[in-house]
Amino acid sequence: MNKDVKKIITGVKTSDGKGVQLTRLIASPALEILDPFLLMDAFGSAEPQDYIGGFPPHPHRGFETVTYMFAGKMRHKDSAGNSGIIETGGVQWMRAGKGIIHSEMPEQEEGLLSGLQLWVNLPASHKMSPPSYQEISKADIPTEIRDNTCFLKVIAGKTKNATQGIINNDLVDPLYWDIHLSEHAIFNDEIPRGHNAFIYVIKGTVKINTTNISQKQLAVLSDGGSQIEIQAEPSARFLLVAGKPLNEPVARGGPFVMNTDDEIKQAFADYESGSLALSI
Ligand code: FE
Repeated sequence: MNKDVKKIITGVKTSDGKGVQLTRLIASPALEILDPFLLMDAFGSAEPQDYIGGFPPHPHRGFETVTYMFAGKMRHKDSAGNSGIIETGGVQWMRAGKGIIHSEMPEQEEGLLSGLQLWVNLPASHKMSPPSYQEISKADIPTEIRDNTCFLKVIAGKTKNATQGIINNDLVDPLYWDIHLSEHAIFNDEIPRGHNAFIYVIKGTVKINTTNISQKQLAVLSDGGSQIEIQAEPSARFLLVAGKPLNEPVARGGPFVMNTDDEIKQAFADYESGSLALSI
């Protein structure tokens, strides 16, 4: 059985950090959570005032952030002593674990800055694990070409043709594929049974069964079956993302996501006392 579209999300306009304009697709009124995905923000503007403020130093605890740049450059710096630039086509998969303080600032003063940030939950057993991160440049992302009509960048998970993504995460066994289809091409593959899955259309329009999904829309896929077939209308670029649900209680408090409200209070207390992470 092929998967179908369960819900289409257009997201809500909001701003975060120091005035960065973004569209919130997950953690929005229409889609509070898609376990294990806690939040997804899309940013994209050629107007510097929409992004120049960036995200000055702020903490995280209890989950992972995945930043994927479509255009432009973002500089990051964190309390563990790491720093670097995520360039166009690059991915940063960061485990905040027990706590990190970081800044995410545009490394440009003009031109297009566009990308996505996804928050992936950690199970209770790993919420207080040491922070770590994997930073992958465009050139290091495995690719796959099918029949000259379908081009895939395999960031996480394994395709039907056995291309293995570069990100390791055995906690939610994620798929994170960036798929480019030429005119009217059809993509099909398999999503592990029981995973929650969505697509996000970066460019163009795609069709799943009889439902069209337009640029900048997110479509939550139905639970049944494991096969997925997606057709470009006429050409398109989209992400296919899936992960194993954790089925644990979720308590949120701004930049912290834990299992209970007491753990959120503790996170704020640890941040204030300086024991969550060193400041940068
Ligand atoms: Fe952050």
